[in-house]
Amino acid sequence: MLDNKVLVIGAGLAGTEAAWQVANAGIPVILVEMRPLHSTPAHHTSDFGELVCSNSFGALSSDRAAGLLHEELRTFNSLIIKTADNFAVPAGGALAVDRSKFSNSLTEVLSKHPLIEVKRIEQLDIPPKETITILATGPLTSDSLASQIKKFTGIDSCHFYDAASPIIYGDSVNREIVFKASRYDKGDPAYFNCPLDKDEYTTFRKELIEGEQACLKDFEKESANFFEACLPIEEIARRGVETMRYGPLKSIGLWNPKWGNLFDKENRIKKRPHAIVQLRKEDLEGKLLNMVGFQTNLKWSEQKRIFRMIPGLEQAEFVRFGVMHRNTFLESPKLLLPTLQFLKRKTLLAAGQITGTEGYAAAAAGGLLAGINASLLFNKKSPVIFPNESMIGSLMNFISNKNKIMASHKKSKFQPMPASFGLVPELVCKIKDKKLRYKAYQERSSKVLKGFKRSLENSSLKDQCLLEII
Ligand SMILES: Cc1cc2nc3c(=O)[nH]c(=O)nc-3n(C[C@H](O)[C@H](O)[C@H](O)COP(=O)(O)OP(=O)(O)OC[C@H]3O[C@@H](n4cnc5c(N)ncnc54)[C@H](O)[C@@H]3O)c2cc1C
Repeated sequence: MLDNKVLVIGAGLAGTEAAWQVANAGIPVILVEMRPLHSTPAHHTSDFGELVCSNSFGALSSDRAAGLLHEELRTFNSLIIKTADNFAVPAGGALAVDRSKFSNSLTEVLSKHPLIEVKRIEQLDIPPKETITILATGPLTSDSLASQIKKFTGIDSCHFYDAASPIIYGDSVNREIVFKASRYDKGDPAYFNCPLDKDEYTTFRKELIEGEQACLKDFEKESANFFEACLPIEEIARRGVETMRYGPLKSIGLWNPKWGNLFDKENRIKKRPHAIVQLRKEDLEGKLLNMVGFQTNLKWSEQKRIFRMIPGLEQAEFVRFGVMHRNTFLESPKLLLPTLQFLKRKTLLAAGQITGTEGYAAAAAGGLLAGINASLLFNKKSPVIFPNESMIGSLMNFISNKNKIMASHKKSKFQPMPASFGLVPELVCKIKDKKLRYKAYQERSSKVLKGFKRSLENSSLKDQCLLEII
């Protein structure tokens, strides 16, 4: 027997949205939030949906990835985005909010909702399977709960730090310069290789060493030694002239085919660049490329300036920049269905940054999907998957077991991902002009979501999916 209330743990961006969606479906909710009794190192108030850093939700225009995500959230009556719209402040092309009015309003709306009971306690364990639960405790999940999650998911499936390399759009790489090859020609040519000569390497190293660093929060400084096993690229550069060439920039076994016939083995050595930056596909089509070994603490503006000095990356467009910070997140492609249910326990769902999405609106999108699906499960209906053509769908599919590449990796390479046009499927007719292409993505999403929303509203009550859940 299922409990007669849905439990949402964490009243951040994801939990707030999830609680709202469930309550609006007419289902009673218990919303558990540990602040102010027990705070995180980054939060300062006891308000719901507190924005711990920037007050920006990203680009406003719906022909940008973040803007499209906002528009999709509006379509599904998202409380987070509605509140952001209500308390927007002028910010050029971005949706930025008055942070205290934003959080005050969320707290008030949810606290006064007749179907939401707020409990200010720290959740210490994972509730039993009879309780439909949404886990939305974010990047700073409390230690006790984090250790229970680790126990539940397995030791390698819960990460506590995010040391991620930048990801760039594949079509912003100059293919005249970059060449495809695998080291020693083993297997398919899986990597895109950016060749550097000695002068380029020397200048690049100097800029890396002198580049401006992002500030670590105090609580992150304490744990900076964690990163000894996974050093920032600028620290590797600092350790010696040749250190990067024996590490992530090593060129051994890589010969540039653009410099002549590779079968001329005796001369191969001349075709070996002084150093190489490798780019690895993040998705099957190679729309997103990961800069291998480039986890960094450089400021984002510095990353853009310095990494564009790499031959072939002069025009690189960044989907996400490299980061190294405290972040509790799950190995979601191995643990979660695209409905955000755990494979291991279908009455347990996860949402927000803990699932490996990045950004405020993305957290709200996770809360929205988990909220919709918790309501469907409560009403004994089948949970839904958002269409891949939508930004919500493509992001949730990327972080779940629909992501075949990540789900099958034995040694995980999964890193958090923001909303991006690199995640949505190609258009049937390719459009070269970027602006027009993004506009077409937006129009396709809007059309597909209209149909999806209709089918969601008409879905049958007869569906006894819970029989196989418990
Ligand atoms: C230092 C820092 C700076 C950031 N800066 C930005 C930024 O500028 N822009 C951006 O888009 N993103 C930023 N992020 C990421 C940001 O946290 C997420 O985008 C967003 O807040 C995630 O929403 P969430 O709901 O998943 O988590 P949160 O908003 O963190 O919400 C999780 C909630 O769960 C509660 N909780 C945790 N454990 C328990 C427990 N055991 N029991 C009960 N309640 C619990 C917490 O108190 C919190 O209220 C930053 C993160 C950090 C840590």
